[in-house]
Amino acid sequence: MSETESQRSSDFSISGPTLNSGWGRAPKSLGKTLQIKGAGTREKEVELLEFITTNGSSNKIAPRGLGRSYGDSSTLSSGLLTDPGGWKDTFDFDPSNGTLRVSSGYSLDDIMRKLVPRGYFVPVTPGTRYVSIGGAVAADIHGKNHHVDGSFGTHTKELRLVSPTGVHVLYPSDPEFKATVGGMGLTGFVSEAVIDLIPISTSKVKVTTRVTQSIDDTILELEENDTKYRYSVAWIDCMAKGKSLGRSVITWGEHLELSELTGAGDPLSFDPRFVASVPDIAPSWLLNRLSVRAFNELWYRKGKLAKEVSIESIESFFHPLDMVGSWNRLYGQKGFLQYQFVVPFGAEDTLKEAVRLLSNVKVPSFLAVLKRFGKGSGNYIAFPSPGWTLALDIPTHRFGLADLLDRLDALIVASGGRVYLAKDSRVSKHLIPMMYPEIDSFREVANRLDPEGIFTTDMSKRLALRDEDL
Ligand SMILES: Cc1cc2nc3c(=O)[nH]c(=O)nc-3n(C[C@H](O)[C@H](O)[C@H](O)COP(=O)(O)OP(=O)(O)OC[C@H]3O[C@@H](n4cnc5c(N)ncnc54)[C@H](O)[C@@H]3O)c2cc1C
Repeated sequence: MSETESQRSSDFSISGPTLNSGWGRAPKSLGKTLQIKGAGTREKEVELLEFITTNGSSNKIAPRGLGRSYGDSSTLSSGLLTDPGGWKDTFDFDPSNGTLRVSSGYSLDDIMRKLVPRGYFVPVTPGTRYVSIGGAVAADIHGKNHHVDGSFGTHTKELRLVSPTGVHVLYPSDPEFKATVGGMGLTGFVSEAVIDLIPISTSKVKVTTRVTQSIDDTILELEENDTKYRYSVAWIDCMAKGKSLGRSVITWGEHLELSELTGAGDPLSFDPRFVASVPDIAPSWLLNRLSVRAFNELWYRKGKLAKEVSIESIESFFHPLDMVGSWNRLYGQKGFLQYQFVVPFGAEDTLKEAVRLLSNVKVPSFLAVLKRFGKGSGNYIAFPSPGWTLALDIPTHRFGLADLLDRLDALIVASGGRVYLAKDSRVSKHLIPMMYPEIDSFREVANRLDPEGIFTTDMSKRLALRDEDL
């Protein structure tokens, strides 16, 4: 943005405004950035609290991490966004018990680069390494191992939260913890977390690949084989039709043991790089049905040709999209959304109907991701719950898309499911109490921590997640 305003004191600075969005590039909103100064995390916590106490009533705050949520959960029109770059002071790894005390601005990428070479991996990783600890906690993120290991909050032992009522130290049994983990930044600012890491003896993954011919086949394969592997995901070709509807490439993975490694070299090497970057000039029509159909077909054929068992690097198994910098620009300025839902086990017909409807819609969509969730975390408005979760990216500017997604929402709610707030930019606020039945417990705790509603986001206003926004 052309205008730049800077207001300085010894403790904080405010810059901007800038036009901000989530990873989907839409919607966009104008907000300023708040940077807190201090010699370390503890000092910054005090400075932030002081800022809130003196300026909070006229300055609403949205915590923001690395902006990898897709919709409007980390933007705030006319508000202040926190800057994760300023929160990178604490990084204390304790090898005696494999725990890490870490400031909220560190990303999973930072942690992996520092600790994979020492034989430790993060307990949960999403499809990108570029998420901050604050964002991982606030969305209670899940990975390909949810059916075995649960979500990020399950491995979080302690949190430090700055809310208008003070600096709080939270533990998993506290209601404030259950409201903060999965709470989409609405209880305050997470400054630090203590998380459990998992030991690994190599930086490689042993991958088992299988292709399926149809959605029924995919469901059966996942049901029968998931428990045998720590990591599991099916890539569904949502542009295939007829008998091939729901055909997939399923990959299961396990960390490779040192005894299974062949060849020389450092078994724990980890240094992922970008192989390409997308410039900001891609027109919205670049991705069309022909080009995406061809990509999906290639992916499927590659799956068919793959060896049943292969060895892959961490980055190619967990984060293939991270190899292309700013790949969200492929969708052009109008952007895209990700539709992700979960429906309970037993609602397979709803899942199949959703795949059918999404395959019928005339939009180019890359492979959708299907997986089975295990136990929920018990955090009030966290997304994962036992069942099937499907996620797919869709360009936003397609005629009829809004109606289709409304129809899908209704099906999903009727079967006891929900959409993922970290991906959302369009669901109706009237569905939130049905999708998230513990929303009142969440609101009650959020009100206690932040009685004036200083912490808010564009999403919270749109969906009335806090009482103030009702
Ligand atoms: C390619 C890709 C793949 C993905 N795959 C998955 C996946 O497999 N599983 C999954 O669960 N998610 C996935 N995501 C979504 C992503 O993991 C979440 O949206 C995550 O929250 C993003 O973290 P962030 O640091 O970018 O936070 P942001 O997007 O900046 O913010 C997300 C939320 O966290 C809050 N927040 C951020 N920092 C703090 C803080 N310090 N204190 C309090 N609240 C805070 C914000 O207010 C907001 O509500 C994926 C996203 C992308 C782009």
